Amino acid sequence: MMTALPTSSRAWHLIARPEGWPSPGDVALREIPVGEPGQGRILVRNLYFSVDPYMRGRMNEVKSYVPPYELDKPMDGSAIGEVIASAADGFAVGDHVMHGLGWREYAEFPASRAVKVDASKAPLPAYLGVLGVTGLTAYAGLLRTASFKEGDAVFVSGAAGAVGSIVGQIAKIKGASRVIGSAGSDEKVKHLLDEYGFDAAFNYKSGPVKEQLKAAAPDGIDVYFDNVGAEHLEAAISRMNNFGRITLCGMIAQYNSTEPPAAPRNLAQVLTKRLRMEGMIVMDHMDLRAEFVKDVAGWLADGRLQYQETTVEGIENGFDAFLGVMRGANTGKMIVSLG
Ligand code: NAP
Repeated sequence: MMTALPTSSRAWHLIARPEGWPSPGDVALREIPVGEPGQGRILVRNLYFSVDPYMRGRMNEVKSYVPPYELDKPMDGSAIGEVIASAADGFAVGDHVMHGLGWREYAEFPASRAVKVDASKAPLPAYLGVLGVTGLTAYAGLLRTASFKEGDAVFVSGAAGAVGSIVGQIAKIKGASRVIGSAGSDEKVKHLLDEYGFDAAFNYKSGPVKEQLKAAAPDGIDVYFDNVGAEHLEAAISRMNNFGRITLCGMIAQYNSTEPPAAPRNLAQVLTKRLRMEGMIVMDHMDLRAEFVKDVAGWLADGRLQYQETTVEGIENGFDAFLGVMRGANTGKMIVSLG
């Protein structure tokens, strides 16, 4: 017997623009209508969706590389789901797809906006993390933007997070002379050293980053992969060797602050040390996708690359999961599972 298709879906809406840290009153879990798919469209039951730091920026009314979330509308973001009805060539019921309508249970949309993923090749959530945009950010940001080369000493902040943990391991695989990471708990630091093979790691909450980085990198660093900004960026600039490269990937230390950051105060060293500091947005590096998937799938298969996920169950906990990423409740990629 065919199961009836859903006629509605719960979806997280942004209802107020946060000032500083977002609060539960800024969002609401609402019921939205869902129709049968029209011609060329599919209806998908979401199994997993991604909650990411960049979504905090989309809650502000500012012009950026992605448009802000609209008030009183469902938020969006990456998701993986199962096709439950299809009126599109090439898409059958039961297919797994990746698409951009996360933060909800069901989505009906043009099949041209979905990419099929193969559950037999990798666990489905991996397509949101290590094999998806997260992994590509690490790969492109290190190998292309920072022009990493064998023998470089690399420092990465947010090192136990989704992007950072992959950056450090790719640097090791590619022959870094030393890989140093910072993270927000002793447990995460232990994980970097024991599971991901970092040469040195420190808890940035235990003391000034500048002093801890100096102790961890006695010979300086050639590449800094910045996920954090502020005090971390200042400390890294101070520790850079001449002609070093800095990838500005994220500045999570300031996403929820209402004051401009106090650091970095040492930009003059970018000049005197002839450093190159470059912002990167992963969407500019889609041309590397095939090469990235081939390399990363190989490293996963031969056990050289490890990854972790932190999974929060249930759509009703989706916003808490997002706040959790901001607070550091995750090790590796934060995923919301809809069961
Ligand atoms: P993630 O690292 O898995 O999660 C964010 C982590 O940031 C938390 O787990 C927390 O870990 C850390 N954190 C939070 N507040 C901090 C603070 N004040 N100082 C230092 N660390 C702090 O997230 P992700 O998805 O991999 O993203 C990492 C960074 O890359 C973010 O800045 C994100 O915006 C950026 N990003 C950029 C692109 C791009 O295209 N440019 C693409 C993806 C991600 P601790 O416990 O260690 O504090």
